[in-house]
Formats: sequence, C-alpha cells, structure tokens
Amino acid sequence: MKTALRREILALLFAVCIVIVLGSMTGLMLELLLVTMCLYVVWSLYNISLMIRWLSKPSKNHPKSVGIWDEIYYQLYHLYRRQRKAKKKLSSIVMRFQESTQAMPFAAIVLNSNNEIQWFNRAAGHMFNLQQGRDIGERITSLIRNPEFFLYLSKKKFDDAFEFKFNYRQISLSVTPYSSGDYLVNAIDITQQRMMDDMRRDFIANASHELRTPITVIAGYAEILQDQVDTDSAVPIKKILQQTDRVQKIIEDLMVLARLESRDTLVDIDKIDIAEVLSDVYSDAKILDEDRHELILAAEPAIIEGSRDELQMAVLNLVTNAIRYTPEKNSIRIYSEKKNGHVVFGVNDSGIGIMPEHLPRLTERFYRVDPGRSREQGGTGLGLAIVKHVADRHDARLLINSVLGEGSDFRLEFELGHDA
Ligand code: ADP
Repeated sequence: MKTALRREILALLFAVCIVIVLGSMTGLMLELLLVTMCLYVVWSLYNISLMIRWLSKPSKNHPKSVGIWDEIYYQLYHLYRRQRKAKKKLSSIVMRFQESTQAMPFAAIVLNSNNEIQWFNRAAGHMFNLQQGRDIGERITSLIRNPEFFLYLSKKKFDDAFEFKFNYRQISLSVTPYSSGDYLVNAIDITQQRMMDDMRRDFIANASHELRTPITVIAGYAEILQDQVDTDSAVPIKKILQQTDRVQKIIEDLMVLARLESRDTLVDIDKIDIAEVLSDVYSDAKILDEDRHELILAAEPAIIEGSRDELQMAVLNLVTNAIRYTPEKNSIRIYSEKKNGHVVFGVNDSGIGIMPEHLPRLTERFYRVDPGRSREQGGTGLGLAIVKHVADRHDARLLINSVLGEGSDFRLEFELGHDA
C-alpha cells in the first residue's frame, strides 16, 4: 500500500510538472492546473462511487482500476475474503454448539430477566411440552405451573437445586444466572433415581421392622435364661445379650433414619426456644454420663422453627458421641448462640478428636474412625447420619471442627430467616 501511495504521489508530481512546463509555454498555467485538478477529482469521485457500489454488495468481481485505487480495491477485497472466512468459521462453531446443546440429554432453557423463554433444547421441549415457535417469549411460570417453582424463581437464590413433580415425573432443576440478567435453567429427570431411593429406603425400613420382633424375642429368652443358668453358662448368655442389644440399637437407628427419609418435608413445625431443647438434652445427658465428665450448659435463648423432637434427638446424638469419645473428667459443653445472623447450637468436647481426612465422611452411614472403639462404646455408626438428615430437613448446616487429641465441635447452623 505504501509503494502504491508513493507511486501515486510521484505520478501526481509528474503531471503537475508537465502542466507547469505546458503552462509556461502557453501562458495558461492557472487554467491548466485547474483543469488537471478537476480531472483528478472527477477520477477519484468515479472510483469512490465504484467502491461504494461494490461495498454495498461485495462479490468476487471487485472493480479494477489503476494506481492507488487498484491497490485499495485489492486490499478491500482481501479484507472481505478474510471476513467471510471468519464468519463461516464462526457460524460453523455456532451451528456445532447448537447441535450439541440440542442433543444434550438434559434439558436446557435460557430465560431473560422477566423469566421469558429465549431458547430451549430438544430435551427441554420433551420434558416440559415446549414448542419452538409457540413458546419462545412465553413466561416459563405460565408453562410450568407450580407455585413452589414460581417462589424458587422469584427468590433468585439458586444455590440449591429445586425438585418438583411435572407430568408424573420427578424433576431436579438448577438455575445459573449469567451476564445481562439471563438465566440458564438445567433440568434432569430423576424419577428413576427417586424410585431406587424409595425402594432402598422401604427395603431397609421393612427389613429393620421384620428383624425387630425376633431379636426382641431372643433378648427376652436370653434374659430369662440368665437368671436360671449356672455360672459356666452365664458368660455365653451375657454375650448373647450384649449382641442382641447392639442389633436392637442398630435396628432402632435404621428405623429412625427410614422415618426421617420417608418424609421430605417437616410436618410438625413449631417455634422452639433452642435453650429449652438444650436444657432437656442436658438433663438426659447427666443421667447418661453418670458423672464421668464435666457437663456444661451454655444456652443462649433463640427462637427457631422446626421439629422439637428431631432437634432434640440430633443434639442428644451429639452429646452421646461426646460422652463416648471424651476421656473421663474432661469437659463437654452443650451450647447455643446467635452469631452473624445465624443461630448456632451444638456440642463441644475436649475428647480424642478426629483426623482431618475422616471429617468429610463422618456423616456416611456406618462410617467410623475406629470401628472397634465405636462398638465397644455401644456406637451404631448411624448417629451422625441421623444428625445430618435432621439438619438437611431443617435447611440447616451441620458444621464439624476437630483437632486430633484436643477435641471436637459439632454444631447446627440455622439462618436468621428461621429465627422468629
Ligand atoms: P458411632 O455410633 O460410631 O458413634 P456416629 O455416626 O455417631 O457413629 O459417628 C461416626 C464416627 O465419628 C464415630 O465412630 C467416631 O469415630 C467419630 N466421632 C463422632 N463424634 C465424635 C466425637 N465427639 N469425638 C471424636 N470422634 C467422634
């Protein structure tokens, strides 16, 4: 381009020189200069008009000219070709992206800030009976009519997935906000998964129920025999009684878990003063502990909403653990406090503590750091699973801090919203 410009200037200078020579020979210098300039302007305007015409409808046949204009046409044509290539590449990427999102096995819907549908894929169409032409621009809440879904969207708090029933299917839906106030809604059909969960839960509940009667009968007979046999036979019968006691405790805990799982939402919600709950737990703990530890109650009154029985059971499980895993004479603190917009309550002990790698798995069923010790202390391995379930049912968080050899802190944290 630079050389073409240089050539154009040289040609112009050459023309001016000729005009000067001709001008001085004829004495018409000014007139000749004016005519030359006019001719150059007309030539330039003609080329500009060619360029505008081509730019309005660019094609392979770009205009041809001489000098700088030919160079300009050539450069513009190459720019146009590069742009066309980039556009083709971009549209093929967009096409491929659209095809892949269309083929995604889970439903995806894009909503604007007014909850109006902007785009959805095939799976979403099947799942929610949406039709491309008809439902674009419609509010999703008028197509998926569910008051809880409406509430979930209007709250605009999308940390947790939302589960609901639609057309006899169980759907789990999550919303991700992204730039300019749009939302990506992802939904998966979890009907099958829920059915499996229900089957597993029913199986455990039924098996526990079926086992309870025979084990009670065995324990009963063992107790009768214990009073009648001589000292030699007393040892095995004592062992039978210990084992039946263990099995009975496991069955009880399994039935509690099944009960908690069988009801998704809390039915017996009350306004509870957590200090009163902790005071009851403290009285039970005193009896359980038989003065082996220093039990401390530090309960700040705070009203929360929930099931009194479930919360009491959860804290009693935590205290029972603290008693089990804390050396005698050490202290165990049952506490509640209001902190940073939360109501927090739980149990703090100065016991054996837990190594950090065990902490994420503690609430799994039958997970024990030291199975031998847990059994010896009468543990079932289900206590913390029960506590976690109770926490989940109350939308609360179970937080665990522990330092090996120093002690542990297990607490439930309720958001201020629950604090009435
Ligand atoms: P378990 O009936 O065995 O106590 P849990 O589910 O209540 O079952 O607890 C799981 C495991 O977590 C226990 O086996 C124990 O290893 C550990 N654990 C629970 N509470 C404490 C605690 N306060 N101090 C130390 N370890 C604990």
